[in-house]
Amino acid sequence: MAQPAFDPGAFQPALRTRLLILQPTPFCNIDCSYCYLPGRDARSRMTPDTVRAVARRLLDDGLLGEELSVVWHAGEPLAAPPAFYEDAFGTLQQALGAHTALTHCIQTNATLIDEAWCELFLRHGVKIGVSIDGPAALHDRHRRTRSGRGTHQRVMQGVALLRRHGIPFHAIAVVTAATLQAADDFARFFIDLAPTELGLNFDEAEGANPTSSLAGLEGAHGDFLRALLPTMQAGHLVLRELAQALQLVAQPLPTYHWAGQDWPDNAQLLPFALLNVAWNGDFGTFSPELLGQPSPAHGNFVLGNVHRQGLFDAARGPAFAHLWQPIREGVARCRDSCAHFAYCGGGSPVNKLYEAGSLAATETLYCRTMLKRPFDVALQSLEQELGTSAPQ
Ligand code: SF4
Repeated sequence: MAQPAFDPGAFQPALRTRLLILQPTPFCNIDCSYCYLPGRDARSRMTPDTVRAVARRLLDDGLLGEELSVVWHAGEPLAAPPAFYEDAFGTLQQALGAHTALTHCIQTNATLIDEAWCELFLRHGVKIGVSIDGPAALHDRHRRTRSGRGTHQRVMQGVALLRRHGIPFHAIAVVTAATLQAADDFARFFIDLAPTELGLNFDEAEGANPTSSLAGLEGAHGDFLRALLPTMQAGHLVLRELAQALQLVAQPLPTYHWAGQDWPDNAQLLPFALLNVAWNGDFGTFSPELLGQPSPAHGNFVLGNVHRQGLFDAARGPAFAHLWQPIREGVARCRDSCAHFAYCGGGSPVNKLYEAGSLAATETLYCRTMLKRPFDVALQSLEQELGTSAPQ
């Protein structure tokens, strides 16, 4: 059956970029064992011209909505100096400030935070996320310096500085097999740390990290979530996956309409909802982790370069079609086969590719871990709550 061509005007509501993910530098000062990024030794840096070109492309294609979150990521963002961000924030504000409300977000390993960074975060209202895996015994297993030493102490020094300056931060922890055995220590640590929210990522099999330690441990992962849930119910900690699940139980995803079908709103599957731009201006869309991953079949998932072509121009070319067709097939299969489709919208292309070898795949360890199981744990707890609170 002929597949409909990409026509940005055919989406209802209109396509908008909500997350702009910019790679200030691919370099990272530490060397986590589960990192998926290739080329993290390279010290290249995004130039002001590239920042300006990204802004121009978004304007030219009418992709700006009322708000745009700019996430500085894909390397250690603080490996570029504060002056880089002063300049880049100013450039983006000048180019886009009259058209959209910009928010800047930095996800950092926190080892480089000092007074100058805290002043910059405060001056620009930057939202900070700290990558920390729990107490030192868990964190230092994987998050190490290039010479192999644990980074926990340095991260805590960075967190202490954030606190001293009154800068709120969320945390993202990578959950591995070892974390599942230490739910109580993990919960106690994060209750003390007091992030605004805790994201429970896991060591996904993707890119330079070919296997996940959670494979084969899904029962234990369910127990882990159930053990953490009371900390959230008691108001001690907001757990991102469980909070999102509770929200979804109350209200499934809003939908987009395209090609005669409703698409639950999943930003990893809607063209240009996420725009990912590498330090040199190469851009891609869909899962951010795809951009730059070695793939002869998909040209390393680079759709174009902001210095040479527009975003929608690139989407009319073969590289985009070659990517989007299997992604749509995967969504169609998810729609036909999965009871969670209205809450998920068809998953994450990068995980389908690296776990199942195809962008057109359906269920993955990723979707079971990040969506299905949290959803089922949250639903079960609500049912139990309703059961016990129902009149006798
Ligand atoms: S939960 Fe998994 S199988 Fe279900 S729609 Fe999402 S990606 Fe597809």
